[in-house]
Amino acid sequence: VDLSLRAELAAGYHSWSQIGRVLPEDWVHRELPCLRCSRKPLTPTPRNTKTRDFDCDWCGEPYELKSTKKKFGRMVADGQFDTLLGTVTSNRVPNFLLLEYDSSGFSVRNLIAIHRTLISPESIRPRKPLSDRALRKGWVGSTMDLALIPPAARVSVVYEGLPIPWPIVSEAWGRFEFMIQIRPENQGWIRDVLALVQKLPPGPFHPTDLYQFENRLRELHPNNRNIGPKIRQQLQFLVAQGALTRVRRGVYLRVE
Ligand SMILES: [Zn+2]
Repeated sequence: VDLSLRAELAAGYHSWSQIGRVLPEDWVHRELPCLRCSRKPLTPTPRNTKTRDFDCDWCGEPYELKSTKKKFGRMVADGQFDTLLGTVTSNRVPNFLLLEYDSSGFSVRNLIAIHRTLISPESIRPRKPLSDRALRKGWVGSTMDLALIPPAARVSVVYEGLPIPWPIVSEAWGRFEFMIQIRPENQGWIRDVLALVQKLPPGPFHPTDLYQFENRLRELHPNNRNIGPKIRQQLQFLVAQGALTRVRRGVYLRVE
């Protein structure tokens, strides 16, 4: 993988906000294979397509690119809150590509890909509405809390200027292929339980530790009354898929 951005493309633009969008977009299109099927290139979506920037023409996986010349923190800003939340709850949210570039050397420094199936409504927060003086007064943006996405679903593709060997990236991504294969309703339960597991302190936990989030789970899944059994069922399924470890009967551990 060639990590250099095509600096000559910057010539046509004056602002860093444009350059910082165009150069990483061009790089993803040239260099990044689809995380799921490993084929190239990812095809840019038509301008003004909301909520995603690339599609894989082979397997259909959608991607949204976020890029910065700084560092991404725990909270990543995204578009309109209602729109993003809607795509998450209807299982249409794209995979996210978080790309950090070096603006002096014009190269990719870090790239993390986030598996779309593990983005829970729990991790999406509204921002403060824009003030009366703003052009889009009252507009409500969103932030995504990366801490509520299981670490295994945040796959490193480039780390501090070094590309991670593709077989490692591909295998890490493939760990969540099972999520794409199961029914959307079950996907929702799993991603929400995993997001809530991320809220627990580190170390072993019991299913009952998750009961404190019962009301939240009831909000997210209003048609289900048996929250306790449903939680235990998800935990057992996640152990079978290797996404959680069972220490002993009734005691679980996150995979870090
Ligand atoms: Zn693909």
